[in-house]
Amino acid sequence: MSETIDLLVVGGGINGAGIARDAAGRGLSVTLVEKADLASATSSWSSKLIHGGLRYLEQYEFRLVREALQEREVLLKLAPHIIRPLLFVLPHDRGMRPVWMIKAGLFLYDHLGGRITLPRSKAVAFPHLEYSAGLKGEYRSGFVYSDCRVDDSRLTVLNAVSAREKGARILTRTRFEGARRVEGGWEAGIALANGERETVRARAIVNAAGPWVMDVLGEIAGEKVRGGVRLVKGSHIIVPKVHSQGHAYILQNPDRRVIFIIPYERDFSLIGTTDVAVPSLEGADRISAEETRYLLDAVNRFLAKPLAAGDIVSSYAGVRPLYDDGSDNPSEVTRDYVLRVDHHGHGAPLLTVFGGKITTYRRLAEEALGKLKPFFSGLKGDWTAHEPLPGGDVGRFNAFRDDMYRRYETLGRDLVDGIVRRHGSRSVRLLGNARSSGELGRYFGGGLTEAEVRYLVAEEWAATAEDVLWRRTRCGLHMTPGEREAVTAFMQQDR
Ligand SMILES: Cc1cc2nc3c(=O)[nH]c(=O)nc-3n(C[C@H](O)[C@H](O)[C@H](O)COP(=O)(O)OP(=O)(O)OC[C@H]3O[C@@H](n4cnc5c(N)ncnc54)[C@H](O)[C@@H]3O)c2cc1C
Repeated sequence: MSETIDLLVVGGGINGAGIARDAAGRGLSVTLVEKADLASATSSWSSKLIHGGLRYLEQYEFRLVREALQEREVLLKLAPHIIRPLLFVLPHDRGMRPVWMIKAGLFLYDHLGGRITLPRSKAVAFPHLEYSAGLKGEYRSGFVYSDCRVDDSRLTVLNAVSAREKGARILTRTRFEGARRVEGGWEAGIALANGERETVRARAIVNAAGPWVMDVLGEIAGEKVRGGVRLVKGSHIIVPKVHSQGHAYILQNPDRRVIFIIPYERDFSLIGTTDVAVPSLEGADRISAEETRYLLDAVNRFLAKPLAAGDIVSSYAGVRPLYDDGSDNPSEVTRDYVLRVDHHGHGAPLLTVFGGKITTYRRLAEEALGKLKPFFSGLKGDWTAHEPLPGGDVGRFNAFRDDMYRRYETLGRDLVDGIVRRHGSRSVRLLGNARSSGELGRYFGGGLTEAEVRYLVAEEWAATAEDVLWRRTRCGLHMTPGEREAVTAFMQQDR
């Protein structure tokens, strides 16, 4: 048995990775176990927005929206390579929410979070060369406001990288198999990637298992917190881009939900999402025919050139592990998070994470460490609002990217652009002094080189083609099946 660590974190999604980073930066000894790959569950299946959540205002979730709007500004500074501002256009007609309501909502959105650097909202008349691109001519007006988009799985991985650099042990493909309290601490069983089993002694456990939070609770002996999750499935479709401008659309649906059309990976539009309550995770990992129809119908009310099922190039589904607040309507279940600490006087705390957005993960982690503070005397204070995530120390992103274009002129802009957006200042570590793409090893297509794959394996726990093609990068979307197979073969060979 190894020596006693301070914190065992179960789950390598955004919340587990964020808590591990925060804790390691405060000097705690941390081990994080993730049963599959980092961000292999909900944290790579999101709408990829760092947003206040305009629609949550209607549900009076002011605390959540304020915190999320503040976080938008903080995160933009910490990771400007993977988090970028994005304008949203909301087309309007008489059948929708009244203009006064939208104006009031946008006013709140512009002001609730305090000082913002992003452009404030405004009304626009259609047709508009830019803001009504791709829409039917019948829409005569709209509103424009700001939010941000994020590479969700890279955000998770970069938190894990930072945690490791601060001393945390990150174990992917490692399953938590249960724990019990012993002498004021915990003894937990974990099954490692190589099939071996290990017993970990820890002073505290964090359960950040997302949709599996109740399963993990079930594997922990003794009295536990009360609370429950509502599993609400959400799906997206990806189509060739529906307009050539840089903005997203937020579309009001007759059921009062909103659907996003988000520019995605240069050539595509990401369309989502749905809200379907599911009893279990079984079969919830792919979009259903009804959800596909629902999304197509929703966007076709607005698009001049309607989309058909045949236009869909890819799709994905994920399950939100929402805190069960008793709402009947899955769209109205709170998106806020709830943290529960249970110690029953044993001094061996178990902290359980219910709910949470990508957007608020950093604040969630701060709050988690705040709740654990009484158990760790001398624990350092909050620090994560100021230290950039790995690769995020680039200053103004566009100026940095232009410098990189010049520095690596001979490699071609497309290749450099993709690498810089994924790795920020750390791009130099994988590009070195390369003068030609040949110096980066084999080219797999879709902007992926052997040098990057090797970097992802060495530095970011990539172990399979899927890790590389769909989470560490999204290069898979730009590749032919043959090109993807070549990456699979490369990952399987003894490198
Ligand atoms: C359709 C959809 C759209 C969304 N859009 C947005 C958005 O635009 N913006 C936003 O801010 N939020 C969004 N969200 C919410 C956000 O994605 C989630 O709240 C967040 O990703 C949850 O992260 P998590 O770390 O709690 O869970 P997860 O990412 O699911 O991570 C939990 C991890 O625990 C691991 N695990 C489980 N059991 C064990 C075990 N026994 N041992 C070891 N590991 C284990 C799992 O493998 C998993 O990787 C969206 C969610 C969905 C579903």
